[in-house]
Amino acid sequence: MKNIIFLAPPAAGKGTLSEMLVEKYGYAHISTGDLLRSEVALKTPIGLEAESLMKAGKYVPDELILKLISNRITNSDCQNGYILDGFPRTKVQALKYDELLKDLGKDLGVVIYIDIDKDMAVKRACSRITCPKCGKIYNKYSSEMKPKVEGVCDDCKEALTQRQDDNEETFIKRFDEYMQKTMPLYDYYKEKGVLKTIKAYESKFDTFKEAVKVIEE
Ligand SMILES: [Zn+2]
Repeated sequence: MKNIIFLAPPAAGKGTLSEMLVEKYGYAHISTGDLLRSEVALKTPIGLEAESLMKAGKYVPDELILKLISNRITNSDCQNGYILDGFPRTKVQALKYDELLKDLGKDLGVVIYIDIDKDMAVKRACSRITCPKCGKIYNKYSSEMKPKVEGVCDDCKEALTQRQDDNEETFIKRFDEYMQKTMPLYDYYKEKGVLKTIKAYESKFDTFKEAVKVIEE
């Protein structure tokens, strides 16, 4: 399968879509945040270096992240395709990632931009409720994502809570920041001819259908 990079504004449904694609195609799902956390937890040389930088309030350099990605994408479970999540975030990272792929003789695959209307994103984010125990995400206004019993987790019966950073003002700020930061990447991949845009629909199944089309074309 084609490897996938997602460019998706907050609340565009990237997480849900990734899960559905992993299930359908057996993609490996690579979250660079998780990769880094697991290296830190395992106290590997890269993990220790990253940890000391983060403790000092410094950014983890691109080279280190790329090393992690390089190790990860050469694993056997990635040979049938992988979804790269949370990377690249800047054009510089995109250029370095291209170099890495060239060195490894690997294909970039397809970059999927999930287009979501800002009002819809705000509405989605601000009606999102999560289970404090298992982390499952629900949505008060979505017929597909609301809990079976209002305000209670289907699985562990805990009372659901709203995340602090999901209030409208902070969300809009996060959304705008994302758009501003991501536009150079969007343009870069568009020029390369690897960018495909799909729409975020109310129903995850409609969005999924578009993604499948892009992957299989
Ligand atoms: Zn739960």
